[in-house]
Amino acid sequence: MKILVINCGSSSLKYQLFNMDKEEVMVKGLVERIGIEGSRLIQEKDDDKYIIEESMKDHTEAVSHVFNALVDKENGVISELSEIDAVGHRFVHGGEKITASSIINDEVKDAINEYTKFAPLHNPANLMGLKACEELLPGTPNVAVFDTAFHQTMPSKTFLYGIDYKYYEEDGIRKYGFHGTSHKFITNKTAELLGKDVEDLNIISCHLGNGSSITAIKNGKSYDTSMGLTPLEGLIMGTRSGDMDPAVITYLMENKNISPKDMENLLNKESGVYGVSGVSSDFRDLEDSAKEGNERAQIALDIFQTRAKRYIAGYMAEIGSVDAIVFTGGIGENSINMRKDILDGFQQFGIEIDDEKNNVRGGAHVISTDDSKVKVMVVATNEELMIARDTKELVELDK
Ligand code: ADP
Repeated sequence: MKILVINCGSSSLKYQLFNMDKEEVMVKGLVERIGIEGSRLIQEKDDDKYIIEESMKDHTEAVSHVFNALVDKENGVISELSEIDAVGHRFVHGGEKITASSIINDEVKDAINEYTKFAPLHNPANLMGLKACEELLPGTPNVAVFDTAFHQTMPSKTFLYGIDYKYYEEDGIRKYGFHGTSHKFITNKTAELLGKDVEDLNIISCHLGNGSSITAIKNGKSYDTSMGLTPLEGLIMGTRSGDMDPAVITYLMENKNISPKDMENLLNKESGVYGVSGVSSDFRDLEDSAKEGNERAQIALDIFQTRAKRYIAGYMAEIGSVDAIVFTGGIGENSINMRKDILDGFQQFGIEIDDEKNNVRGGAHVISTDDSKVKVMVVATNEELMIARDTKELVELDK
């Protein structure tokens, strides 16, 4: 079975074609600058790059170029589009209506439209990719895999905010959580690695990348997570503020004459480690800069690790017993120093990283000492494979 996985942003589209018989990536690619001058598609197969530089005024044109690239005689990997058995689409927000990946139908589309209010940039972009596939690949099933779905098992004590309950009832204001596809992948993979049933697995999954979230997983299900109504809550991130006193926002809006739209932009794009350091949102740049003595870069890194500690320790108490603390995402998989700094202080609870074992990037490894009370692991995430797996399962069930 061949599954195409599509992840649409407002002006970009990432794709991977999987041969699910072997769970192998046949080809992957990226379309940049959709609807902007300089659109281009870059497709990668093994070490070869195939680049198309042509105007792509919308997502339908971009998807059409993706299809051409997939069947291209020299650079493609399939001879006909009918070889694609199904398309899996990444969706950001399915709110309370979507609790699992779903074959696209009117109900799913209604939920996507309803929760666009909380993901105004992402849900419409994701929908554009879906519409293009419906138009250009009629009859091929489309599956939606949501970032929020995995977290729908959270109990009300972890998802409700401390404001008048009517805002939850009337507007759906609550914590939804994100990165669900990654946290689900990590849960399944960790259970497999530890030889445990998923239903018996308790872990703290730390997805640390440009966007970061930590999730407490109890009995294989999301119990609490650091992102909220939107991906702005929780850890400090590349350019997102994460947690702070909500009064900061009202103060700034009143005293600096900032509109709600500009405030949203400030909190999402100009804050985080980028805002604090004034150097970069990229953790490699920050680590280099801190090493050269840049104090603000060091402070940004320190805030990041302090917040991560708070969430991990809090979540360990929330779920009672923990099989593993798992690091993933660009930073979690690659930053040896950050993993060590985050878990420094946990020695008092008998949790300890082994410096030699920690000297790894990506893959799947236990990095704690043999007698650490809780295993610490690095597990590379694979959201695209998770989307392809869910798509395959649903399409097969639907047959
Ligand atoms: P996204 O959230 O966009 O998927 P990633 O998960 O790819 O992002 O994470 C990107 C982040 O990972 C960047 O801040 C990058 O600096 C960081 N990163 C990647 N490699 C390293 C490394 N070797 N050391 C420290 N940070 C790294």
